Amino acid sequence: MSGNYKIAVFDGDGIGPEITEPTVKILKSMSEAAQSYDLRFTYAPAGASHYAATNESLPERSLEIARRADAILLSAMGLPDVRYEDGTEISPQIDLRKALKLFAGVRPVTVRTGQAGPLTLPEGREIDFVLIRESTEGLFHSQGCGQVTETEARETLLITRDVSEKLFRFAFDLAAARKSSGRGPGRVTCVDKANVFRAFAFFRGLFDAEAMRRPSIVADHAYVDAAALWMVQKPWDFDVLVTENMFGDILSDLGAGLMGGLGLAPSADIGLDHAVFQPCHGSAPDIAGQGIANPFAMMLSAAMMLDWLGLKHGNTEMQYDGTRLRQAVEAVVAEGRVLTRDLGGNASTLAAADAVTQMMRAS
Ligand code: NAD
Repeated sequence: MSGNYKIAVFDGDGIGPEITEPTVKILKSMSEAAQSYDLRFTYAPAGASHYAATNESLPERSLEIARRADAILLSAMGLPDVRYEDGTEISPQIDLRKALKLFAGVRPVTVRTGQAGPLTLPEGREIDFVLIRESTEGLFHSQGCGQVTETEARETLLITRDVSEKLFRFAFDLAAARKSSGRGPGRVTCVDKANVFRAFAFFRGLFDAEAMRRPSIVADHAYVDAAALWMVQKPWDFDVLVTENMFGDILSDLGAGLMGGLGLAPSADIGLDHAVFQPCHGSAPDIAGQGIANPFAMMLSAAMMLDWLGLKHGNTEMQYDGTRLRQAVEAVVAEGRVLTRDLGGNASTLAAADAVTQMMRAS
């Protein structure tokens, strides 16, 4: 099936524009060569720099561009020195998740043979699992509304039946898709703290109800503290993990650590109607403007976007191009010749991006 797809681009703050430019360039060249799809890009201003200049962090017009898009590509937003009056940071990426009801934060964790990282993998083992972080409620529910007095501070965790049911359906669907493509055994692990908190016993109960409806997928549970331990001790055992917002926030950085750093960690925030694709890392103001930022997490996020759009619209060429882009980045990382400073090399952003382009041409 052929089609035109509108991509909203938030190039954001700090290193955002530096990693967005080469990523969009690669997407444009794939789209130009494609027979069955055409990507049209519209840039949407938002973020901390935009707030500093205009007093608006996420203008209504930018939100409208996002709403009308088939997919949203976002780099990173926020700068530590630019804050609202209450002391919190400008974070339109979180506002977007809420406004577009993007309940499933998808964080793939992949370490291929030959890829450098903090763990020495046993012979023949690779890491390939997906962490799904609920992204609209949990402990982030009371963001901006926490109650603070002279003597105490309170934030409230919210878990709803509606969002949890959608989240668990999504997790089981993903495990089934991974199983049918040969990427996983078909297993979902619910990560919670059901031994201590009623809210998590509720969460687990809803997970078990979905598991009953999905007999072809193995379902099990892990307490969040044990899950953190196993992510280090035996990460190759996981397939799909699903968890609450704050637990997922923390575990996804642990996942990024397994991959050798934030510069390799892609993500997607997916709802029923919209999806945002963005690297896990922030705007890295400490290295902004130097041309040394790692563009790989952004490119891997763009690859996830092609895969998602292709699956949604039945476009196999787009899915194929998503796989090609992901595999080209993985091959450059495994080869280890052209790496940015965060991965132990000395390549510039543009040199790293060129290496991916060359790898795609060679494949
Ligand atoms: P960060 O991820 O921006 O940086 C942490 C460290 O990782 C820094 O040393 C940075 O140089 C390095 N790093 C991150 N991405 C890199 C890349 N692509 N290439 C090379 N090195 C990279 O986290 P932070 O310093 O805690 O936050 C900086 C700003 O980003 C803050 O304002 C924060 O709120 C914001 N932030 C935004 C997002 C988002 O947009 N999704 C996520 C996290 C943080």
